[in-house]
Amino acid sequence: SRDTREVRDYIRTIVDFPHEGILFRDVTTLFADARGFRMAVDQLLSPYAGEPIDKVVGLEARGFILGGAVAHQLSVGFVPIRKKGKLPGAVLSQAYTLEYGEAVVEIHDDALKPGDRVLIVDDLLATGGTAAAAISLCERLGAEVIGCAFVIDLPELGGRKVLEGMGHEVYALTA
Ligand code: 5GP
Repeated sequence: SRDTREVRDYIRTIVDFPHEGILFRDVTTLFADARGFRMAVDQLLSPYAGEPIDKVVGLEARGFILGGAVAHQLSVGFVPIRKKGKLPGAVLSQAYTLEYGEAVVEIHDDALKPGDRVLIVDDLLATGGTAAAAISLCERLGAEVIGCAFVIDLPELGGRKVLEGMGHEVYALTA
């Protein structure tokens, strides 16, 4: 009979990872399945049909897997945003607040040019801190963020409100 599984059906939850009390959404099972991965990539793209996009920006690490596939499908370039100290060239850095402490993400300072229209891609939106820092990096290079696309939005963590409050559209495949 026809396979009726949706994207959410390929994602599993791992209890107590990486810490006790955390329910970790594991997308490796989605990525490993040919049909699941294809559906996820196609659905991430679909709201942007007909919109000019110059670059896909993917967030380390699972945003590289999704963003690379999205960029290939759009026939545009891919730009990584990485954790501090990983990119080899000259970078812009952006700090953001975590539950405990601070993190820093970076982009190559020549990876985007003023006026570039970029789509940001990551696997999961939680508090929005990572995506907000990524938006800031793109905008500091003069690029225009035309959308932020995620496989999973955890609405109770408030990320969507943060990004929408910055004036950005959020698209997610599942909660
Ligand atoms: P935020 O900055 O929105 O609080 O957290 C989102 C970032 O943390 C994303 O880069 C995402 O990959 C990662 N993340 C946080 N929780 C989870 C989770 O349960 N599953 C996965 N796959 N990633 C998570």
